[in-house]
Amino acid sequence: MRQPKQRKTIRELVQEYFQQHPNTDLPHGPVVDWVTEQWRLQGNETPPRDPWRVIRHLHQEGWLIKVRKGVYRYDPEAAGRVALDDFTPEQKQAILERDQYRCVICGKGLADGVELHVDHIRPRYLGGRSEIENGQTLCAQCNFRKKVYKQTETGKRMFIRLLQLAEKEGDLQMVAFCREVLRVYEKHGVNDHIRWE
Ligand SMILES: [Zn+2]
Repeated sequence: MRQPKQRKTIRELVQEYFQQHPNTDLPHGPVVDWVTEQWRLQGNETPPRDPWRVIRHLHQEGWLIKVRKGVYRYDPEAAGRVALDDFTPEQKQAILERDQYRCVICGKGLADGVELHVDHIRPRYLGGRSEIENGQTLCAQCNFRKKVYKQTETGKRMFIRLLQLAEKEGDLQMVAFCREVLRVYEKHGVNDHIRWE
């Protein structure tokens, strides 16, 4: 007979599976199967809700390394670093002081009525460390824009690739479409550091 025990959350089960297979490239299928089975063994009647999403979140938090699409790896050393790894209050203080309590992008400070954030220059999920050198002061708006511009960057690179492909294939309609989209980027000064012509 099974011992009655505390039920584990989906997140805990996912973490348990990866911890049992450290430094191994794991496709999501077997992970989800195992979590689903354990979830059922715990006496849950309904299947676990979206374990795959939990895996993605663990990656975004820096706990899992994405090897390629659908394949993740748990590196105990890296994960341990991330768990501890936000700026300490002392580091935040040092970063704000170094940046003279001003947003390093627009220059606004508390006197201008903006909220200041301490941001990781290289994000943690890409391996950026919580060191003063990797920190910067951003106002709430620039911090938001930084995140959004990361998304538009992905889009711009995709249209550049599409354009190259369409040119190679001689698909003039697609060439015209991509050029127009890229010109809209240019018109609004979005991601100007990525060149396409
Ligand atoms: Zn700013």
